[in-house]
Amino acid sequence: MTAVIIDGRAVARRMQSEIRTGAEAAASALGRRPGLGVLLVGDDPASAMYVRMKRRACERVGIHSVASILPASASQAEVEAAVRAFNESADIDGILVQLPLPATIDEAAVLSEIGLPKDVDGIHPVNLGFLGMRGREPTFTPATPTGVMRLIAESGMDPAGKEAVVIGRSNIVGLPIALMLTNADATVTRCHSRTVDLPTVTRRADIVVAAVGQPEMVKADWLKPGAVVIDVGSNSVPDPDSEKGYRYVGDVDFAGARHVAGWLTKVPGGVGPMTITMLLANTLKAAQA
Ligand code: NDP
Repeated sequence: MTAVIIDGRAVARRMQSEIRTGAEAAASALGRRPGLGVLLVGDDPASAMYVRMKRRACERVGIHSVASILPASASQAEVEAAVRAFNESADIDGILVQLPLPATIDEAAVLSEIGLPKDVDGIHPVNLGFLGMRGREPTFTPATPTGVMRLIAESGMDPAGKEAVVIGRSNIVGLPIALMLTNADATVTRCHSRTVDLPTVTRRADIVVAAVGQPEMVKADWLKPGAVVIDVGSNSVPDPDSEKGYRYVGDVDFAGARHVAGWLTKVPGGVGPMTITMLLANTLKAAQA
């Protein structure tokens, strides 16, 4: 079997073209472009790169983006005040706090400051809580997990009644993916670093989502033939053949998995482009609300 590659870049391009049209219509209706406020604290190069990518994507689709950049030495009060300034700004429809925040900052307290109507990354504890409650709807769902669900939909497999395994249980990735799969009526097993005999667990899954941060950990013989495999991992590994000296690989051994999985995402070019796209989609939705 050779897996069908789910092309996140192509799905993202299609969606961004629709978002651009929606953003133009919203700009005419509002008399201003939809706005995203991005908060970056500290000088982590990866975080700075993610923020630049998000700002460029905003430009592409006609969303106005404003960055608030604070030094790593910023106090808790200064970081929370930056979030509140976005809450109060009439030009800002959505707020993104780039994580991780410096260790000196109480992240939960900062995220709790985001006004729910502007929580376009679905990261406020109330929105995450609503995601896990029956009969409650979050105002927004987190960008990466929403992108993962969209890529699963691309495979044509309906998660209802299927066995799904999510490897990783972080608040921003693994946890919401597991909740969203449960809400889509899959039977979900959540795995983590203390899971015993992970390959046996993943082998029974119709859907595997790997969100671990371990390069190429999930091997071909961990997979059920025909499974939908979504690789969230983004790991830089040394590569002397590349100009930069490194390249990005996922949490799944792509070369092996493509001979067993039914559908598979690539890294790069899978979940990454969807994460940004879902953030743009949520920002437009916030502007239209
Ligand atoms: P975290 O480090 O917060 O969480 C990693 C999770 O993996 C934890 O739950 C941990 O378990 C689990 N884990 C670690 N090692 C193992 C192991 N050997 N076996 C089983 N489980 C293990 O990472 P994130 O959730 O933030 O990110 C996960 C990956 O996704 C990273 O590669 C990150 O770069 C990528 N990512 C990609 C995005 C994209 O847009 N493409 C967006 C966000 C993240 P435990 O809880 O027990 O410690």
